[in-house]
Amino acid sequence: MQDRLDINSEEQAVLDWIDSRSDHMIETVKAWSAINSGSRNPDGLEQMRGVVAEAFEELGGEISSVDLPPTTIVDPDGTVRQQDFTPSFHCRLRPQAPIRIVMTGHHDTVFPADSHFQSTEMWDDDTLNGPGVADMKGGILVMLHSLLGLERSPWKDEIGVDVLISPDEEIGSLGSGPILAELGAGADLGMTYEPALADGSLAGARKGSGNWSLKLSGRAAHAGREHHLGRNALAAACQFGLGLDELNGRREGVTFNLARIDGGGPPNVVPDNAVARFNVRVQTENDRIWVEAELERLLDEVRVRDGIEAELHGGFTRPPKPMSPANAKMFEWTRAAGTALGLDIRWQDTGGVCEGNNLWAAGCPNVDTLGVRGADIHSDREIVKLSSFAERAKLSAILLMKFARGEFDAREARALARSG
Ligand SMILES: [Zn+2]
Repeated sequence: MQDRLDINSEEQAVLDWIDSRSDHMIETVKAWSAINSGSRNPDGLEQMRGVVAEAFEELGGEISSVDLPPTTIVDPDGTVRQQDFTPSFHCRLRPQAPIRIVMTGHHDTVFPADSHFQSTEMWDDDTLNGPGVADMKGGILVMLHSLLGLERSPWKDEIGVDVLISPDEEIGSLGSGPILAELGAGADLGMTYEPALADGSLAGARKGSGNWSLKLSGRAAHAGREHHLGRNALAAACQFGLGLDELNGRREGVTFNLARIDGGGPPNVVPDNAVARFNVRVQTENDRIWVEAELERLLDEVRVRDGIEAELHGGFTRPPKPMSPANAKMFEWTRAAGTALGLDIRWQDTGGVCEGNNLWAAGCPNVDTLGVRGADIHSDREIVKLSSFAERAKLSAILLMKFARGEFDAREARALARSG
């Protein structure tokens, strides 16, 4: 472990400046929360990208938009179609600098345009309730202010940064995945701004995750007159779903969640289509191989049903992020930076996934919960702790300044990642 870090007067001046911006961050997150930017609300996402770009102008990097490749989705009626994304926000600062850091976040939320949850409310002096205030509009402001802090320090030229803020994190980062991989591969380390827990704990090891849609086709027939000619796609979906559910408990740390089955219609018609959707979480690469073999086996069992066709869409989108030596090094530094601020930073493993998984898959060690302290995200009880805006921006600013000054060797984490 590091000895207790010294904060010199130049660093302290940066931290004091961040404190002076606390109210500004809080007012801004209230305004940003009022913009609905649900993952499937393109107008709101573009409006949100616009206000993020305006805020980042203060930083002075090269701002651009990055078009995301479309992906395919399966509609409830079995239609397979292209899904388009709005662009990601990208800001590049000092691309020639010796240390390369990728900072990521997302401007989408889980709350659709027609959600009842659209505005903020103060619950007490330190608690603001509102959509996206913690996950992660607050986090974007923490990221920005840590960078603005770095810019006020004498060591800024040592660090180059790519900031990527994406519109599709809450639906799996399928569009931004390739760009996260590219930026992760080119950086020494990553910093991602998902919320910390309300007590300040960070996420440690993360599971891997995949989502699938299974499209099943059979043959429609009159349920009374010609039932024998029908081939029941919904029954096949049920067989698959039960088989999937029975896999739970078969392998430590691996879970299967049958989430939804669409299909069928009037009771007097044999259903000719069904779509089953499910999620799988894994801990290791070997788990993934096992899961894919089991899915094949279940598919074979469905395909032997007479007249049934099965088409599986989807796959693993976020590989596991273990507490490897390289990621542990990142935590050690974060903990040391926290200690310098009088914070006792802890972490706990989680089954949740985020962009930190994608960065790690590209060989980029990272800490992914550097955002605000918050709670009850993905619900209308989502809150952010207001005192955490300056606190967490200072935490990241210390990390950035210590990397810049070489007190933390950014390339050491990268070298650890490369050595396995
Ligand atoms: Zn998030």
